[in-house]
Amino acid sequence: MNRELRREFQFFHEWSGGIVGEHAVGALALARAYLKLQAMIDRDQARVRWVQDEYFDLEGFTDDALTERKTRENLQSGLWEVRGCIVEVRCPKCKQWEQRASLWGIVSAFDQQDNYPKVVEGELASEAKLDTQELCTD
Ligand SMILES: [Zn+2]
Repeated sequence: MNRELRREFQFFHEWSGGIVGEHAVGALALARAYLKLQAMIDRDQARVRWVQDEYFDLEGFTDDALTERKTRENLQSGLWEVRGCIVEVRCPKCKQWEQRASLWGIVSAFDQQDNYPKVVEGELASEAKLDTQELCTD
């Protein structure tokens, strides 16, 4: 394991959830996928877009009344926001972006100390098909 992978593994091991016992395996997969995505971003082959989730519905977000109240308060005060995250890959031929994975209704602070957005990016990177195949036929 090189230094870069070790660093990302430690991040995902600390911050991502996952099944106990499989947690290290999951964190390593997330770290690898995250680094692959970063390398593609560096080569302008992929991008991550964070956008406001305007369709978020707090109804059914949680069963816990206390969590719901706290979430509502933090959203109203602007302390938290709701965003969607989209991972896109660029077609090498026509340069169009194609969506490969997305997650919506992400409630978080999105500030400098917030580790959750990076965990989401790692999860989406591992879920997305990260290749550079041509998407168009013409
Ligand atoms: Zn194309």
